[in-house]
Amino acid sequence: MSREAVVKAVCGEDEECRKGLSEAPRETAEFFSAFSTFVPMLKSLEAPLIERVENLSSAEALVGDRDLARLAVAYRLAQLYGERFRGWEGDRCPICGAVPTLFLVRREPGALFEGRAKYAKCVCGFTWRYKWWRCPKCGAEGRENFEVLYREDMEGIFFHKCKRCGHVHVEVNGEIDEVAEYGLRILARYVA
Ligand SMILES: [Zn+2]
Ligand SMILES: [Zn+2]
Repeated sequence: MSREAVVKAVCGEDEECRKGLSEAPRETAEFFSAFSTFVPMLKSLEAPLIERVENLSSAEALVGDRDLARLAVAYRLAQLYGERFRGWEGDRCPICGAVPTLFLVRREPGALFEGRAKYAKCVCGFTWRYKWWRCPKCGAEGRENFEVLYREDMEGIFFHKCKRCGHVHVEVNGEIDEVAEYGLRILARYVA
């Protein structure tokens, strides 16, 4: 899977856009790193954790933007508490409460044959195993509930549009880098 195909689909020939997209993951990482010493004070460990943070307003004051502050704190929470939610089976992220859009399909060794498993990868970085053919937004299940779209230049990438609620999630087979992940989340919004 080429990053170039995703960048082209999002930006076309717009140089400004291409530059912004290819730098987005690095800029996000830099932004998150400013929070590497932030200590979230939690009321409880009930999902979603972001709603249990008592000093969220101090993060908001630091950033000056509510959504960005929440994302940075969620990223920190995923690092600190992600392990506690191993085996999570919910539709929404237990850390930040978001409905996932990006799913990675990984090969896993089995007793006799190699298997495949689908993982939700949230914007906050938390990853959990997910069911096949299920809409994370409305819970619709079964192949028949999805319209599957793909582009010829994006091998192994499938956009699943829920027929019930319209939510689009992307299923990625194979390796992609962070720029492609970023771009695919944007594309999912276009498709929806
Ligand atoms: Zn999350
Ligand atoms: Zn749905």
